[in-house]
Amino acid sequence: MGIEMINSNDKMKAISKNLLIDRGVTIKDIAEIVYDLQKKYIPSIKHKDCMDAIERVLDKREVQNAILTGIELDRLAEENKLSEPLETLINGDNPLYGIDEILVLSIVNVYGSIGFTNFGYVDKLKPGIIGKLDEEGKKPNKCNTFLDDIIGAIAAAAASSIAHNFEDKKE
Ligand code: MG
Repeated sequence: MGIEMINSNDKMKAISKNLLIDRGVTIKDIAEIVYDLQKKYIPSIKHKDCMDAIERVLDKREVQNAILTGIELDRLAEENKLSEPLETLINGDNPLYGIDEILVLSIVNVYGSIGFTNFGYVDKLKPGIIGKLDEEGKKPNKCNTFLDDIIGAIAAAAASSIAHNFEDKKE
């Protein structure tokens, strides 16, 4: 069952998407951020282009693996199932921890250096759903330490994918 699952990209993608939805994030929420990132460069961009770009990002195994890993750690921290001091570091979103940002570099990396710039930008401004997740994560029994970075990285990667496609079409 486990092997069957990891051998099917469709199944891995479906599981990853369901995990995001379980944690309160829709593709539409992420698309809003992508749209805001790209509309100043591509005024004709449509929300549908952003949704399609997110689907392309979610096709990547690196992205699925980061979603699976990060959300699992958030959940275990919420349930107080991690060992100390990791439990306190993750559950308290400790600023000296930083592995949440490192984990999602595997997502940002997929589309090269524009991805890094976009990720830095959303990480700083925390637009839309990212800000909401950040606030929600401060509540007792709630941990979004990895999730907010995962969403920021998916949005950054999708924006980069759109930028690359747009450049390709210009040539
Ligand atoms: Mg974080």
